[in-house]
Amino acid sequence: MKPIENSPRRQKILIVDDELSNLMVLNEALRVDYHVIAVDNGRDALRAALRIRPDLILLDILMPDMDGYELCKAMKADPVLREIPLIFVSGKTSEDDESVGLGLGAVDYLTKPLNLAIVRRRVAIHLELKRQNDLLSRLALVDGLTGIPNRRAFDDRLSEEWRRAVRIGSYLSLVMIDIDWFKQYNDIYGHLAGDICLRRIARSLTTAFTRAGDFVARYGGEEFSCILPGVDERGLASETSVLGFRVESLKIPHSGSLISRYVTISSGAICCIPVQSDTPETLLHLADVQLYRSKDQGRNRSNVSSVNLDEVPHQVMRKSSNDQ
Ligand SMILES: [Mg+2]
Repeated sequence: MKPIENSPRRQKILIVDDELSNLMVLNEALRVDYHVIAVDNGRDALRAALRIRPDLILLDILMPDMDGYELCKAMKADPVLREIPLIFVSGKTSEDDESVGLGLGAVDYLTKPLNLAIVRRRVAIHLELKRQNDLLSRLALVDGLTGIPNRRAFDDRLSEEWRRAVRIGSYLSLVMIDIDWFKQYNDIYGHLAGDICLRRIARSLTTAFTRAGDFVARYGGEEFSCILPGVDERGLASETSVLGFRVESLKIPHSGSLISRYVTISSGAICCIPVQSDTPETLLHLADVQLYRSKDQGRNRSNVSSVNLDEVPHQVMRKSSNDQ
């Protein structure tokens, strides 16, 4: 059966039931408030869940081929689908059935024949919890000071982009950025001013990388990092060449800087085509090497390089940033 879908952008509910009449009743009850996707078997449900990442799944138990229990187990075993709340909707009405369903990790159990008013209320409760959980997860990935993604979000995204680039054989570029003489800035102007400086630079970097897929994070302290999927060495050189200018033209006064009247940055960038046998840490390390070259050469500059990972004997050790 072709999945039935209506309008997007609202919270998404996947309904799985082998009987068309049940699908239609639930679709009718929920489609006004949510984006409903309906499928009539377990295998299509797994595929649909992976594709659309629903916020909630309503799941029949008795179905041919893959029944609701099996489908539930398969979802709970999948790291991508595990967190999606799942409600059994079943004609199996014994307490044992309910207990088995909840034991498998479902958040609720509704019995047929359905009272649609109760279905709507329960669904609303679970979707509100899902919304709050999503919000907390997002907050855990945001740097509190600058409002941009934090180190954890960066690590997640880098692994994700690395795997994607290995799969499709595309370029992946990484830029590491460090604010020059930032310890001196804090000593002279105070930590409050330091915070404001970090926020302004975060905003400036975020607005510098605007292609879909570009990702700017606060790596820690006065360090920022940018992931640029699909960007080759030439593209990387042109992208990074304007960065330093952008930051210096913010004209944030810095009397402790030995290189400018204003706050500046040093950056190091590396481009590669990721390979299965290597890891994102290699890219991080090599970007760091370029960053430290920029610092050794006097700061307020950028070094860009590319690497063929098939040929590099690499030692993945991150140099500590204690030179300021
Ligand atoms: Mg059934």
